[in-house]
Amino acid sequence: MAGSSTPRVGVLALQGDFREHAAVLSGLGASVTLVRRPEELAAVDGLVIPGGESSVMDKLARAFDLAEPLRAAVRGGLPVYGTCAGLIMLADRIVDGIVGQESIGGLDVSVRRNAFGSQVDSFETDLDIPVLGAPPVHAVFIRAPIVESAGEQVTPLATLDDGTMVAVEQGNLLGTSFHPEVTGDTRFHAYFLAKVAAAV
Ligand code: GLN
Repeated sequence: MAGSSTPRVGVLALQGDFREHAAVLSGLGASVTLVRRPEELAAVDGLVIPGGESSVMDKLARAFDLAEPLRAAVRGGLPVYGTCAGLIMLADRIVDGIVGQESIGGLDVSVRRNAFGSQVDSFETDLDIPVLGAPPVHAVFIRAPIVESAGEQVTPLATLDDGTMVAVEQGNLLGTSFHPEVTGDTRFHAYFLAKVAAAV
């Protein structure tokens, strides 16, 4: 908020692993608010949408009257970082959503849910992510989505060996298919906090 040196960062706390994100952000010195109401959303300078189950998060966001405030906040330029289900929530287009599933949108991408199928439910790999520098990021994928296509305004930040996009950025929006909050590597969260600080 204006005049404050510590950015206030919200973590959408409807469902999923919001506690892990809150712990990482607090560890990096952010003032963290768990967001479940429009008033809480209105009081933060940036928002993290955690992993979990995007179809449930969507239903709860609508039930808690948060879906429209979230869309308005993204349109207004609020920095938002989505991991896994959070990336799905930020996608303009969802492939393989459940019937009636909606997103908040903002990222001009098509995201495919559960893209690695039931055979390869979860896996871990090391990714070179130039904006974060060395060493590579150890990335944990859990029933993860992929970014199947992206518009011109979208910058891919990380790809798998076959070229599949798994981290993207567009203006103040950041999304990863994987879960940096479970690895102890705080560089993605620090990168996001720098965006929040620049936007305040
Ligand atoms: N498969 C989940 C979904 O569709 C995402 C999994 C996750 O967030 N780890 O929302």
